[in-house]
Amino acid sequence: MKTALITGASRGIGAECAKVFAKDNYNVVINYNNSENQARALEESLIRQGFSAKAIKADVSKEDEVGYLVSETVKAFGSIDVLVNNAGIWHFGVLTDISSDCWDHIINVNLKSVFLVTKAVLPYMINKKEGSIINVSSIWGLVGASCEVPYSAAKAGVIGFTKALSKEVGPSNIRVNCVAPGVIGTDMNKDLSDEELADLKDKTPLGRIGSPEEIAKIIRFLASDGASFITGQVISPNGGFVIY
Ligand code: NAD
Repeated sequence: MKTALITGASRGIGAECAKVFAKDNYNVVINYNNSENQARALEESLIRQGFSAKAIKADVSKEDEVGYLVSETVKAFGSIDVLVNNAGIWHFGVLTDISSDCWDHIINVNLKSVFLVTKAVLPYMINKKEGSIINVSSIWGLVGASCEVPYSAAKAGVIGFTKALSKEVGPSNIRVNCVAPGVIGTDMNKDLSDEELADLKDKTPLGRIGSPEEIAKIIRFLASDGASFITGQVISPNGGFVIY
């Protein structure tokens, strides 16, 4: 059985990834930081349905906690075949109001975490000469968003990280790809007003926001044999909101 480690999987896109991989017979590791109840409920629900799942607490912006996450995963399941770097946080504010600590926090959770978790997982993939890494960026990493400079910078960094690493580890048969979603109906957007949501839908050719399931299915595809010749790519499921 293969193993998929998904960061930030207690809810939203990460939780949908856990469900999709579990249903395809992967052992799934549901990483969480604060949302213990949601992560445990997802773990229990998957196990009750006959799937293999384990919830593991770790703040993925901290190197020692990432070390624990990866060693516990290997202890439980023996290897890591798929890594989904999904954990992320969003921040709204003009650049002149952003403190240095706030900048560091946004960059550390959205970008440094991708470096830390990938670095810890790669030796297992290199050893097996096989692996697939999918990093979650955002349309704002492609085109930038006003009042979201640190988030946009971090997500653009995730794209650069993906492209560079794919060249470095391709010879070890490890593929590295990126998904850059548009507006998706998760907790990340729960504070948007009805008017803001209506405006976003209006600006989207498909006339709606996306669902976390739609993103999880693309991540699952990128990890599958069907994507065996795809590496270093950015796929942006966004309903046509951004066409580049
Ligand atoms: P969400 O807020 O529901 O999920 C984010 C997850 O990351 C949560 O489970 C949270 O607990 C976890 N997390 C946050 N900080 C963490 C840390 N330090 N350590 C471990 N886990 C941590 O939102 P979502 O929409 O499901 O977001 C998932 C990813 O998708 C994020 O990287 C986000 O930036 C990206 N994204 C979301 C949208 C959108 O519109 N929702 C659009 C583009 C990209």
